Amino acid sequence: MTVDAVVIGAGVAGCTLSRLLADKGCNILMLEKRPHIAGQAYDETDAHGILVHRYGPHLFHTDNPALVSFLSQFTGWHPYEHKVLAAVNGQFVPVPFNLDSLDKLYSSDKASVLEKKLKEAFGDGANTDIWSLLQSGDDDIRQLGEFVYDKIFYHYTKKQWEMEPQELNPDVLSRVPVAISRDGRYFTDPFQSMPDMGYTRLFERMICHARIRVERETTWREWLDLSQKEIFLKGERFQGDVYFTAPLDELFDFCYGELPYRSLLFEFTHYPLDTFQPACTVNYPNEEAFTRITEFKHCTGQIVKGTTVAYEYPHSCSLREGDVPYYPIPREENAALYQKYALRASRFKNLHPVGRLAEYKYYNMAQAMEAAFHAAGKSIKP
Ligand code: UDP
Repeated sequence: MTVDAVVIGAGVAGCTLSRLLADKGCNILMLEKRPHIAGQAYDETDAHGILVHRYGPHLFHTDNPALVSFLSQFTGWHPYEHKVLAAVNGQFVPVPFNLDSLDKLYSSDKASVLEKKLKEAFGDGANTDIWSLLQSGDDDIRQLGEFVYDKIFYHYTKKQWEMEPQELNPDVLSRVPVAISRDGRYFTDPFQSMPDMGYTRLFERMICHARIRVERETTWREWLDLSQKEIFLKGERFQGDVYFTAPLDELFDFCYGELPYRSLLFEFTHYPLDTFQPACTVNYPNEEAFTRITEFKHCTGQIVKGTTVAYEYPHSCSLREGDVPYYPIPREENAALYQKYALRASRFKNLHPVGRLAEYKYYNMAQAMEAAFHAAGKSIKP
């Protein structure tokens, strides 16, 4: 097979891109370092027969019907709206913090005063963020903001990122709103579902195509040479496109220094119980070393004896030491360092960084797929 394009990384962005290009008639060579595809969305059945997400919970949600149609070629859906609780003051309260959380943590008199004020300030049914509560001119709302910040955001964020919330771009905390409603859903997108046979199966089907060849357990270094002005594939000048979905600093031997990423460690525990906890994810923003526990049965809808949960521990990340990068760390100075690598990449006219790691953007799965559509030159605007 002649190769028209090389896609490095068989994760969410890499698989989507490969399929889109193959459908256009390009022959694709995919290179994947791991023994499996699907990247961080990889799921598999554990020793107890429970479908688990090996790299932590992945909940698919989007406002883009065109993306849903594309994916529906490869999977059926199990409707699931993600719910998260947080352990605060010995109780489980909904996150995003909402009017039900307020009722659980305040006396009924105080809660109704606050509810009224919140509705007046932000609108009944609105979503706002923790920053707007903290900046409120109303003493009661500001004090509520300080309470929510302390109990839900501050310690969780310190554990997750090992830095003060103020050291991160404010939109990191704004990802989790404060809801002036009783909507207990974690996401508000109109489409929220899980692939009915899991993510691995979805991506396997996506890249099962006569024009796609996947090489696993191989690094791009075994195939490509970027040390000159042009790209070489197995020693031959390569003029097709090369799409890179791994960390960009690694591609250039960390020449400007390591781009900071954050990693996670998961501890999987099986319990001979029907269910372990009352929601798919329970966040532990305060005392514990882990940030959250996810019980997969809740989101996969699997009906099976026993249950498996994952305790999630944030961890530092050094690519040189072989840690797995999960999150870019959204801060101005990191974005500036990333730009140096992006500029370096742009010197090759046929090299394209795509996806969460290579673009250094805190994409969710749908956004990573949309980035792949964009890279493939296909419009997918809702
Ligand atoms: N966050 C928090 N407390 C929570 C949930 C989230 O402080 O109970 C903050 C934390 O900084 C986290 C960010 O909000 O990294 C984004 O949360 P999200 O659930 O989107 O993170 P992800 O699922 O991507 O790890």
